[in-house]
Amino acid sequence: MRLRRLPLVFVACIFLVLTVNLAGCASETAAEHAANVYAAQELAAAPPHGNIPDYSLNPSDLAKAQHLSIVHETLHFGDEAWGIISLLLLLGFGAIAWMRDTAMKVTANRWAQGYLFLLLYLLAGTLLSLPLDLYAQHLSLQYGLSVQSWPSWFGDQAKAFALAWVIGGLLLMLLFWIIRKLPRSWWFAFWCASIPIVLFGIFAAPYIEPIFFKYQPLEKTNPALVAQLEQVVEKGHMNIPPERMFLMKASAKLTTLNADVEGFGASKRVIVWDTTIAKMTPDEIVFVFGHESGHYVLGHIGSTLVFTFAILFVTFYLGYHFVRGALSKFGTRWGVSSQNDWAALAVLLLAFSLFGILLEPIENTYSRMHEHAADVYGQEAVHGLVPDPQTTAIGAFNVLGKTSFADPNPNPLYEFWTYSHPSIGRRAAFGKAYNPWIPGMEPKYFKK
Ligand SMILES: [Zn+2]
Repeated sequence: MRLRRLPLVFVACIFLVLTVNLAGCASETAAEHAANVYAAQELAAAPPHGNIPDYSLNPSDLAKAQHLSIVHETLHFGDEAWGIISLLLLLGFGAIAWMRDTAMKVTANRWAQGYLFLLLYLLAGTLLSLPLDLYAQHLSLQYGLSVQSWPSWFGDQAKAFALAWVIGGLLLMLLFWIIRKLPRSWWFAFWCASIPIVLFGIFAAPYIEPIFFKYQPLEKTNPALVAQLEQVVEKGHMNIPPERMFLMKASAKLTTLNADVEGFGASKRVIVWDTTIAKMTPDEIVFVFGHESGHYVLGHIGSTLVFTFAILFVTFYLGYHFVRGALSKFGTRWGVSSQNDWAALAVLLLAFSLFGILLEPIENTYSRMHEHAADVYGQEAVHGLVPDPQTTAIGAFNVLGKTSFADPNPNPLYEFWTYSHPSIGRRAAFGKAYNPWIPGMEPKYFKK
């Protein structure tokens, strides 16, 4: 097959994966359909940003949720726009070209040049985004979502910066080596290289996260909970032994709740935040764990990887053409001579930022489908383990929403564009109505 036909094949693949997943949605069971309709009607009948029957906040918390919702919407799109504007400014005022010149003046060694250029680039990016980052952290402290001290916050920023520099430097060297060797097909070669790199990243993530949070074996701190979680593991025929379950000390920095299944193969593990254990009932924790195990049993990690590689393929292909087009038009003005110039990194990242904004709703729609499926799985997994799965689900979503002041009825367009999960209100309403164990209905994943 000729190389230039490949993009079309992969665009077709993206649509295929999406269609298969959408088909999964279309094949919703009668019980699922009824609960989805119930949730949609409940949200439609409630005032925008107002309480809904299945997830409501007291007046003072609702006011906080409404304010946070507006600020987050503004910050979200403001941050994306500023990312692009600041890159254009850095290119337009010759700052990127200056970074390249400085790196090349200081040393003739390519590795040192690459790392020095990236250091200057990351420093500029960090300083330009610092005001928004500081404001976001200030807001989290003000609303009690974070309890992290400023020195600790700056420490985390420094660690993240160092990681981005060290790992980003390796990627930069690989990218520019490939660009030099394959000037016309580097986008494809780099995409091929990205496959093992992404896989390794997911494998290694559980080993990197202890840099930011402390972990303890869950079995040591909470053996009774482990025994309960193992019931869900057995029900789903998963292979997650108790020693792969960990407690994350989130409370040192945050007040919000979470649980997660991470890594794969030898690094696969279940993480429960200590904040979740402090604020939820054991039944609710089991439900949250049921949701997480749903991602695992339903193969969401694998299908998300396929989806991600398809997205990366299109992004790299368009990025290659964007860099060529942008350099032929603005290269002289920006002082960027060719795609083989260190400064071309900024042009490529500009392309990724632009495509990222356009791809955001596609990625989030995909993610919400998985999250919804995991909710269905979670509720079915706890059936028989808790007295009433509906009550447990509503309780869990209310705790989850209240601890983060989640907007009960967000703007549907904002939800569509930016939410990786369905809104808490939608999930709570679905959980209330989802009952596949009544006569005439069938569970989706655990047949009667
Ligand atoms: Zn999830």
